Amino acid sequence: MKKKSPFKIIVAITLVIVALVVVLVVLVNQNNSESLGREFDEAPSTEGQPILGDPDAPVTVVEFGDFKCPGCKTWGDRYLPQLMKDYIDDGKVKFAFVNVLFHGEESRLASLAAETVQEQSPEAYWDFHQALFDAQPAGNHEGAWVTMDKLEEIANGINAIDTEAFMEAIENNALMDELVIDSDLVSKFEIESTPTIMINNVMIEGDDTFDYDVIKQAIDEALGE
Ligand code: CA
Repeated sequence: MKKKSPFKIIVAITLVIVALVVVLVVLVNQNNSESLGREFDEAPSTEGQPILGDPDAPVTVVEFGDFKCPGCKTWGDRYLPQLMKDYIDDGKVKFAFVNVLFHGEESRLASLAAETVQEQSPEAYWDFHQALFDAQPAGNHEGAWVTMDKLEEIANGINAIDTEAFMEAIENNALMDELVIDSDLVSKFEIESTPTIMINNVMIEGDDTFDYDVIKQAIDEALGE
């Protein structure tokens, strides 16, 4: 009987171990992407977007949202204060909002108004953002409520906004370029529903956006904690 070379046996054992490790790594990575979300090569650019928190925070959370979307109102009411308390106030996370125009003309008008406030009086942006969501009716979501009169009323309620300049800019579509920038991001990141949340380059979508544990886990992972 021919004796097998010990060298060949060692090579064979090594190959088996390497193959097992490769299989394990693949399995672990699959599990990670399953529990958190779709991974992109990069995070959405927040250049020119309204930012809540420290602009130099290590982790960026971007909401792709629509002022006409009831889920976005709920998400903002429920989770934004929680994110403030857990991460934004500490300078660990900055939060940005990108407009999604999935509800037609009213989405466009509301977004244009928000972009106008961001351009003319950025310090008032988040107050306006909240006031706009607050104005969303609790029932009859499809009913029209984003009107020039409503926008004027909201602007009048916020001191830092020069209502006349604000209304003029909306009438002239002065900030349409900003809506194009946002729509390009919506296309680039293949947004299909609102709200969609991105934590750096990881996308949380669908029911997961309403699971704070998933959001928290994705942020903690991005923070390396
Ligand atoms: Ca924008």
